[in-house]
Amino acid sequence: MNTTPKTTLITSLSEVFTADAVHSVVRDAAILIEGENIAWMGSAAQAPAADEVIDAGYRAALPGWVDSHTHLVFAGDRSQEFVARMAGQEYAAGGIAVTTKATTATSDYDLTRLVMGRAAEALAGGTTYLETKTGYGLSVEEETRHARIASTVVDQVTFLGAHLVPAGMNAQDYTDLVCGEMLERVAPYVQFADVFCERGAFNEAQSRQVLAACAEAGLGLRVHGNQLGPGPGTQLAVEFGAKSVDHVNYLDDSDISALAGSWENWDAATRTGTAGTVATCLPACDLSTRQPLAPGRELIDAGVQIALASNCNPGTSYTSSMGFCVATAVLQMRLSIEEAITAATYGGALALGVQNKVGSLEVGKRADIQLLNAPSVAHLAYRPGMNLTGPVFRAGIQVSGKP
Ligand SMILES: [Zn+2]
Repeated sequence: MNTTPKTTLITSLSEVFTADAVHSVVRDAAILIEGENIAWMGSAAQAPAADEVIDAGYRAALPGWVDSHTHLVFAGDRSQEFVARMAGQEYAAGGIAVTTKATTATSDYDLTRLVMGRAAEALAGGTTYLETKTGYGLSVEEETRHARIASTVVDQVTFLGAHLVPAGMNAQDYTDLVCGEMLERVAPYVQFADVFCERGAFNEAQSRQVLAACAEAGLGLRVHGNQLGPGPGTQLAVEFGAKSVDHVNYLDDSDISALAGSWENWDAATRTGTAGTVATCLPACDLSTRQPLAPGRELIDAGVQIALASNCNPGTSYTSSMGFCVATAVLQMRLSIEEAITAATYGGALALGVQNKVGSLEVGKRADIQLLNAPSVAHLAYRPGMNLTGPVFRAGIQVSGKP
């Protein structure tokens, strides 16, 4: 006997922040889920009947987080590196090699369990759409293995073979390998490719080579750029039509105008037209490396669509708490609460190219909904550091939290 309800009504919501184009807020609200999708939203007093009714107890609702930048495929512990950094040691890209060694020594079974555990932590924190990257393998066999494992756990996988040149290998030889056999082997498991365009990692010519080869292979593109200093990463991302450039800590006026230019054919009021390159800000990483926070305020004011993501990784940002990123963006990057939530939901969806499916609460979109144990979404920044995540729904099914 099939007793699965066809429709579910979440009612007694104090407010619903939709993250739609005009940041709509519905008060005393209800949301009707039909199958996987949102079928209706509006005043609780006018809610239609449903097979199942969930009383939200006057809590606020918002879209599930879309975390568009993580590195979850790793083993080992780098807490001592963090301690050393807090004691004044400068961050350099080379720490990646420590993780590569530990991860290579870990079995498929153990590595899969580690990735699953981290994905479960993210889900419990309200993340309902999750990207992760390879990049701790740095050999054909290991990058392929990491991509395969990641593809069984998360929603989207990004190939980041160009994360660091392995010790003892010539940079150009390694770049050729990334663009050749490694790309060919990894491509079936991934949707996007990425390159760490930074001093100590890949220079402009090598980054161009990686982006061109991965575009040729049919992958979407993104760039780790302008994290540790000024550089060509952001403008390369725009030139190659990348969906995002991530980190963006050290931008000059020409970088910001290049990003703004990529959004010229996008109508923000209707969210139609041609999407440009999203600037993905990673505030938890900026804090953990004591870098200046990315200029999110300036980017928004220039007309650039931004995303907030956790950059969960063992070296520079070992947290998947999107709530923490939102609080930091409000308190320290001068975003409004509405702008910060939108960047952590719709902005992430834009960066992943899935904005028509997830990232905002709208009729017809997937029912990815988180309830907060708070009467308004402002509490995310008003009560920083508190775990306010209540029940989480993904594709219409409650996947975390007590009812
Ligand atoms: Zn990263």
